[in-house]
Amino acid sequence: MTYADTYRRSLDAPAEFWGQHASQLHWFTPWEQVLDASQPPFFRWFQGGTTNLCYNAVDRHALGALRGHAALIWESAETEQSRTLTFFELYREVNRLAAVLQALGVGLGDRIVLYMPMVPEAVIAMLACVRLGAIHSVVFGGFSTKALASRIDDATPKLVLTADASLRKGSVVPLKQMLDEALALTERGSVEHVLVLNRQLTHIAMHPERDLDWAEQLASCQQRTVPATPVPSAAPSYILYTSGTTGKPKGVVRDTGGYMTALHASMEQVYGVDASAVFWSTSDIGWVVGHSYIVYGPLLKGVPTLIYEGRPDHPDPAVWWRVVEKYGVTHLFSAPTALRALCKFPEHWLAQSDLTSLRWLFTAGEPLDEPTYRWASQAFGVPVIDHYWQTESGWPMLTNSVGIEHLPVKPGSPTRPAMGHRLQVVDANGQRVPPGHKGFLVEHGPLPPGTLLTLWNDEERFVRDYWGHFKGQQLYLTGDYAIEDADGYFWMLGRADEVLNVAGHRLGTREIEEVIADHPAVAEVGVIGVRDDLRGEAVLVVAVLKEHSTPYSADHIADEIRHLVRERIGPIATPHAVRFVSQLPKTRSGKIMRRVIRAIYQGDSIGDLSTIEDDVSIDMVRTAIAALQVQL
Ligand code: AMP
Repeated sequence: MTYADTYRRSLDAPAEFWGQHASQLHWFTPWEQVLDASQPPFFRWFQGGTTNLCYNAVDRHALGALRGHAALIWESAETEQSRTLTFFELYREVNRLAAVLQALGVGLGDRIVLYMPMVPEAVIAMLACVRLGAIHSVVFGGFSTKALASRIDDATPKLVLTADASLRKGSVVPLKQMLDEALALTERGSVEHVLVLNRQLTHIAMHPERDLDWAEQLASCQQRTVPATPVPSAAPSYILYTSGTTGKPKGVVRDTGGYMTALHASMEQVYGVDASAVFWSTSDIGWVVGHSYIVYGPLLKGVPTLIYEGRPDHPDPAVWWRVVEKYGVTHLFSAPTALRALCKFPEHWLAQSDLTSLRWLFTAGEPLDEPTYRWASQAFGVPVIDHYWQTESGWPMLTNSVGIEHLPVKPGSPTRPAMGHRLQVVDANGQRVPPGHKGFLVEHGPLPPGTLLTLWNDEERFVRDYWGHFKGQQLYLTGDYAIEDADGYFWMLGRADEVLNVAGHRLGTREIEEVIADHPAVAEVGVIGVRDDLRGEAVLVVAVLKEHSTPYSADHIADEIRHLVRERIGPIATPHAVRFVSQLPKTRSGKIMRRVIRAIYQGDSIGDLSTIEDDVSIDMVRTAIAALQVQL
């Protein structure tokens, strides 16, 4: 079976291709039509079928051969706790919580917001929601009150599930208190109840009547099992908010039948998972990667999945490697940012653990630059697979589908389209550009199963933002620039909304960053377009240097960076300014906050900082910039 043949089949005969995959899962009522594409850009998979995501992820295994097998493994570096639940134990816990939710009036189509730490109860809660046909909306536990309030306002949940607190490098993040503050900010978000998991990490104030204690509710609920509710295949399973070009978050809506089919298939096709796998995605349940590959994908496939509370470098930079050794992790899925952070530390941290269980390392979320790719390949001695996707897609769009055919890796490229994805690089008129030319990465409909159904409360924005970009043609706009090479490999060049325009020449931030990342002293770099009276925009470089990496001064390295860019890309891209900081300001999902760096540099208002990793880095950037301004 080759990639080319399988991919072709997924495009030419989608009904047969996905129908075969879907039939490996449980349906309460069989579908009548695999794909309804009669109303583009709305595509509905498995029309007429009814199913349940929780039933397929849990019951199918818990009441079958995998009953006593590990399902959910929790490891907390913060509390030094761990817990493993078998499929049957997970089934029991999910049922008990579903019974509590049902007693509180939760049913089909109700929205439930989760504002939870990385604990097993968070996964149990997601599964309990979909068991009842309720729609969960997980808000990343690191978001601030303002971000939480806007999501509650949009989703209008019946219930919010939270905990007293989470921990970040030992310091308490008071989730319940932040939720109370968020609820006070909401315009429409009067919730009936808040269910609070009390981890005894901090004192909490309970609002009479509204707030309920998680453990008490479980203890007082007599009912032990709740049948999984059959829901139509196109019924929303969750809403996940992501940022767009405007300040208002977009609520990406996921279906049920298409999503579970695509995820189940992707476990084999994309990740090459078999029954002996132990899957660890180091993401957070607040992100799409967490939804798909901490929770649903591995469980649908019946393999153990790890949920980890903590950082990669706390209490020390070997903590992840100890987890890999402890559980015999076979598939590690992480972000290039984390690898770049870890590669800064001396090798002995890695050498302490036995990592021979590892078979694959996957990265996504941002470009995997070549130096980091080389470091990881050498450090782990396993194939390192970069793959590209988005909150909207729910599962990988570009990848090396190693379970079908492990294609030769071209470092820096997330390889080729995943099954069913009709990706192309086009110009501003939607016309395909020749190989080697830069353009917009778009996808032709029908989108494969698992991709976004619409935007919550905003069908118009869904059609306009994603499908309304090209005159006379409906193409799904990813928002990214890319190049397809002569071998059909794609190369990501950064967001189309992050491009620079220097004297009328368009430059991708990614292109410049890659060149600078090659400098031996540079650990991490962000390139930002800043206002320039003469040339429209100028290139600002903000970089983090490797520790003890060079005997040369910062000025000397800055000169070398300028030279490198001029040499590799051309004089037009020569950085106007190069600044060194100890940390780059990033969104919680690891993306460099170019907007913030730009605003600080230009002396504009910074705006909403609710998604910043930690405010200290902003201060550091500010200090660095202030230092520069003094020098000038
Ligand atoms: P999010 O929806 O937050 O996961 O962000 C999706 C965006 O992250 C994409 O549109 C890309 O800009 C970027 N992205 C994700 N994966 C990759 C990758 N492997 N290479 C380059 N960019 C990526």
